[in-house]
Amino acid sequence: MQRNLSGKNKIYIYPSAWKIEYCEIADYLTELTGIAVDIRGPFSETFKVDAGKLAADFAAARIFDIFSTSCAAIHESYAIVGIEREFITEKKPVYGVLYDASRVAGLLRKWIPSRERGLHSHHIVFLDRLIATHTGERYHARMVYCSLPSIISTLGMIQAPARPREFYNLRNANPCIPEEVLLEQFRDKMLTYDDTRITEVAKGLALQTVLWVNGFEPFCESPTCKLYNAHWQEELIRSQIGGRICKKHQKIFQRIKSNQNKAQQN
Ligand SMILES: [Zn+2]
Repeated sequence: MQRNLSGKNKIYIYPSAWKIEYCEIADYLTELTGIAVDIRGPFSETFKVDAGKLAADFAAARIFDIFSTSCAAIHESYAIVGIEREFITEKKPVYGVLYDASRVAGLLRKWIPSRERGLHSHHIVFLDRLIATHTGERYHARMVYCSLPSIISTLGMIQAPARPREFYNLRNANPCIPEEVLLEQFRDKMLTYDDTRITEVAKGLALQTVLWVNGFEPFCESPTCKLYNAHWQEELIRSQIGGRICKKHQKIFQRIKSNQNKAQQN
């Protein structure tokens, strides 16, 4: 991918209904990269998106079979568009449904005006839905999807990385234990709903998308770097809560920042 270091860049953040400290994320990104961040309103309100069209597009991005990429076309007959519309107008998180991440980025991209579609405008949309990409033989849920726009899934932070094996063992052995009791018991090793650590995790995910849009590999191999691509909740906590940016990535961000500073002086 072509490096995008020379121009004056801008980052736009579109919050979801989840309680996240977006100002903290914006300050963090600017501090590290020198790129100005604008926190806009929710995506659909900012671009006055037609709720009916958005609902139809989300319905067509639903994954019904995790082994198949052909998800669209049949959904209107199941009244799913109406359900999607309700989720949009009531700003409800959508539990238990996977959406094809590439299709979701595509359906959102249509609403971004052409003057903001270049690599110098980086859009990060927070979504209270689960997104997934098809790799290998099946779909896998993701926390983040780098694209135009990039998507950060709030539900994905809780559900995409696998929970500790002991969690599943205990749940299987005691299926009647309420989930919140189990979540509380394992909170040192995994995120829970309404977790105050979510803002800190979201900072690292947002940073991955900024690295990507600047033409770098978004993920790091160091398990203690905030750019580590965690597949387990314990890895996520170790890299995002206990971790920091590795030396290699500190240098890359210094390079991005110095180029941004130069561009802003011109
Ligand atoms: Zn790193």
